[in-house]
Amino acid sequence: MPMTSTSEPVLQGQRALVTGASSGIGASIAKALAVAGAKVVVNYAGGADRAQAVVEHIQAAGGEALAIRADVSREDQVEAMFAQMFEAWDSIDILVNNAGLQKDAPLVEMSLADWQQVLDINLTGQFLCSRAAAREFLRRGVVPELSRVAGKIICMSSVHDVIPWAGHVNYATSKGGVSMLMKTMAQELAPHRIRVNAISPGAIKTPINTAAWMTPDAEAELLKLIPCRRVGEPEDIARATVWLASDASDYITGATLYVDGGMTLYPGFDMGG
Ligand code: NAD
Repeated sequence: MPMTSTSEPVLQGQRALVTGASSGIGASIAKALAVAGAKVVVNYAGGADRAQAVVEHIQAAGGEALAIRADVSREDQVEAMFAQMFEAWDSIDILVNNAGLQKDAPLVEMSLADWQQVLDINLTGQFLCSRAAAREFLRRGVVPELSRVAGKIICMSSVHDVIPWAGHVNYATSKGGVSMLMKTMAQELAPHRIRVNAISPGAIKTPINTAAWMTPDAEAELLKLIPCRRVGEPEDIARATVWLASDASDYITGATLYVDGGMTLYPGFDMGG
């Protein structure tokens, strides 16, 4: 049941970069930020056609968007992406660290390569992009016509930053790391009027977790873990992102917003344990 995003232009004139924006949650966030008035860089690692489709969707609705290819785990590519964005639009106001992937295996079967790749993309990628954005926020400072702060960073985490997840030790560790990366950046950057927050989605219908909701049996199992008894949609995350990027959440920094239909409420205890 997709719900429409807010049509209030609360981000009018601001420039946003969304990593991993050619599919799933990132694509939905890019579109919602554009509806809210932001120009949006649609970052992608592969599949230029899908990134271009997101750009065209935004343009067809009267917005402005630009697809830029970069592997967020590569310092040179991240730096080149930000340089390209600044060349086009001078600066950045909102960074959404969304890119991520899973490479699942039981602990004893997990290769070092799969452990490392997930940490490189899910955690180091967020560090590299946040550093590049923060440098620009600090250089430029607050532009009062655009926002009350110099910049906003939103880190896509997961309920698995607090819920351990057997068979996914690399992923859960990366998201636990994102939680502390976010809080430490928030503490360090708050005096410079830069806000840093995280969103921790529960189960959202996207390509990353198709197996968990594709069949009625799988979906029924999944719903046992969700007190609200519905699987989330990318738009649930996009609406929260627009709010965290806007001045409506101006006094919030260092926070994690769990957008999870209650998944972190220990549903196994709903009958008293
Ligand atoms: P998705 O697979 O559709 O999106 C992930 C995106 O990241 C893809 O577009 C992919 O191409 C991109 N990406 C992967 N490696 C990259 C790299 N090196 N550089 C740049 N981009 C790269 O899945 P999604 O569910 O939309 O995931 C988005 C984020 O949400 C991820 O961080 C994921 O961990 C998080 N999340 C998703 C769920 C869920 O249930 N879907 C739950 C919790 C957290």
